[in-house]
Amino acid sequence: MCLDELPAKRFEPIPRAALLSAAHRRKARTSTRGEGWRAGYARARRPCLAGGTALGPCATFSGEDTWAEVPFVEGVVLIGDAAGYSNPLIGQGLSLALRDARVLSEILVSTERWSPESFLPYAEERRKRVQRVRFTAALMAELYGSFGPQRTARRRHFLRRLPEPEFRGRTLLTSGCGPRSPAWAYTEDFRKEVLK
Ligand SMILES: Cc1cc2nc3c(=O)[nH]c(=O)nc-3n(C[C@H](O)[C@H](O)[C@H](O)COP(=O)(O)OP(=O)(O)OC[C@H]3O[C@@H](n4cnc5c(N)ncnc54)[C@H](O)[C@@H]3O)c2cc1C
Repeated sequence: MCLDELPAKRFEPIPRAALLSAAHRRKARTSTRGEGWRAGYARARRPCLAGGTALGPCATFSGEDTWAEVPFVEGVVLIGDAAGYSNPLIGQGLSLALRDARVLSEILVSTERWSPESFLPYAEERRKRVQRVRFTAALMAELYGSFGPQRTARRRHFLRRLPEPEFRGRTLLTSGCGPRSPAWAYTEDFRKEVLK
């Protein structure tokens, strides 16, 4: 629809090289007008997007949090999304699943007799970990996934402050919600600072 300079056959894959050169041409074209290429790109695409026709239903995700308080019973241990997932907006699902596999495998190889009690450390570690993930997911959803002029201004304000070394909100993008990020990144004070 928008890539009008490219072959328009439906379902035909567009070669990556062609995509990159089309993007480059647009970038060059817009930047010669003395505006940032992002702004130029958005302006040039606007009529195209507004006049476009959706080819099918848009995929959606609901963004809820879900988790099992106790992710095991006799004979079964849940990991990954089966144990609980959060808003995919923050893109942490695979890390969580891989860490589950690591923590659990360490327990399995270090224990001769497996019983539900063996998995209590896993459950406890996961509980704390996903509490942090839920906090960050809710904060990021509020920051990036809410609309209206005030929210847009708030988002812009956040992005403008990112280069400031003393701005603690940078933590959201540097250490995300990993186990090594500082405890203050999960406090109400931090939330207010980011959403200022
Ligand atoms: C829109 C969206 C965007 C996301 N973006 C990111 C991202 O950028 N980064 C990131 O890290 N994570 C992201 N995630 C999350 C990530 O995809 C999941 O957290 C991750 O895939 C979980 O892995 P899993 O192995 O636990 O579950 P899954 O990947 O769901 O694997 C479960 C598998 O089991 C199969 N299965 C189900 N029932 C049965 C059955 N009865 N018999 C046999 N097989 C069965 C399913 O078909 C599936 O293949 C995103 C999720 C969504 C929804």
